This record gives sequence, structure tokens and C-alpha cells, in this order.
Amino acid sequence: MSNPATAPDPNLSGAQGNIAKVLKRIGSACENCSRDPAGVTLLAVSKTRSAQEIRAAHAAGLTRFGENYLQEALEKVGLLADLAIEWHFIGPLQANKTRAVAEHMHWVHSVDRLRVAERLAAQRPAQLAPLNVCIQVQLGDEDSKSGCTEAELPDLAATIMRLPALALRGLMAIPPPAADLEQQRVHFARLAHLLRQLRAAHPTCPHLDTLSMGMSDDLEAAIIEGATIVRVGTALFGPRPAKSPA
Ligand SMILES: *Cc1c(COP(=O)(O)O)cnc(C)c1O
Repeated sequence: MSNPATAPDPNLSGAQGNIAKVLKRIGSACENCSRDPAGVTLLAVSKTRSAQEIRAAHAAGLTRFGENYLQEALEKVGLLADLAIEWHFIGPLQANKTRAVAEHMHWVHSVDRLRVAERLAAQRPAQLAPLNVCIQVQLGDEDSKSGCTEAELPDLAATIMRLPALALRGLMAIPPPAADLEQQRVHFARLAHLLRQLRAAHPTCPHLDTLSMGMSDDLEAAIIEGATIVRVGTALFGPRPAKSPA
């Protein structure tokens, strides 16, 4: 029988190899477009992954994790409270579920409605730093359930900037699948354009510096167009198990 104290943790060695591969992809993408890799943050998307797998990924050097499902996220936040993890909520957020997010998360990437923003602000505990938020924008003509429209964006952004418990950091999008790098770039370029417009309209808004875009299959295209956070799951942890019905 293997001695648990000395046997290599398969989670850890697997995590190390995958992390190295993803960092290499980020590095080459940055090199190809003359960007400093320090300007691209790797957010490990850990939905459906166990606390043990996150622990291994943390031991291998990752410190930022993104979760999509609130119950699952809260369980892991509790189980991993001994680790210095920056938690990002990236999934659809219902207005009646904002309190736990306001209390336990450092970032929310999926704010797309005023009501959600106002509740997060009201529920953010006063002793905590402002909650970092990105507005999720619907790109393409897809009839997606998440994300505000481009037309809704200016007002939503202006209102969030007036909420002191929230720090508006930028924009997030999940573009429709595209066949090749050129097509992927079109949507990411659009989001970058929307952030530039927002910055021009609000030149004094601090820290409006984030483009959360790019996943396992399209992070190169996102980096070319200016991604500052790439949200990567599959390339770090392997294919996700099919989600069991709740
Ligand atoms: C699942 C998910 C990701 C990661 O997707 P991969 O293709 O596994 O890298 C990124 N962002 C969001 C919002 C997700 O839901």
C-alpha cells in the first residue's frame, strides 16, 4: 500500500502539468501580440471540481478560483477557509441569492441587472473592501439569458459607479462559439471597444481596468484583444463530468 505521506498526490502532479501548459499558452499568446504576461490573470474555473482538487491546484500555485453555482461555491469556501484564495463568482446570479455572494466573494463577473447590483451593494458587509464587479454583456445576436444588452450598459455602469460598496472593474462576456481565431476575435474586440467607451465616458472612475474574457478554447484570441482575466476550467482540470440534475 502506498504511504499517503510520501506518495505523489495525483491531483497535485496533474494540476502542476496542466497549469504549466496553460501558463505557456498565455505566455506565447502575449509574446505574439507584444503584451506583458503580467497583465493577464489566470482565473481557475473550478465548478464541479472537488475541494481536494482546488487544494491541489492551490498547492501548485493558483490562488484565484471561479465558481458558477452558489451552493457549491459556499461549500468550497467553507472547506478551504484555511487557504488564502480569492473567490470569483462567475455564474448566473438571481436577485434573491445575492447576500451570500456579497458576504463571501471577492469578485462577481456576472452582474447584468440593476436590481442585482443594488442588492449586492446593500448586502456587502461594511467591514469588507468593496466588492469587485464586472458587468456581463451579451455579445452577438444570441438570445442568451445572461448579460445586459449593449444598449443597457451605459446606464447600468453609471449607476454601479455610484454604489460605494461596489468597485466597478470592467466587463465580462461569454461570446457564442466561433469556428476560428479570427471569428473569436470579433466578439472580444467588441467587448474591448465597449470598455474603452466606458472609460472615455468616465475618465475619473478608478480601476476600470478589467476585460474578463477567454476560456479554454479561445484564450489566445481574447488575449490578442486585451483580456486581463482569462477564465479557464477544462484546460486546467480536464473535462467536466456531466452536471447531474439538481
Ligand atoms: C465554465 C466556465 C468557464 C470555463 O470554461 P472552460 O471551457 O472549461 O475553460 C469560463 N467562464 C464561465 C462563465 C464558465 O461558466
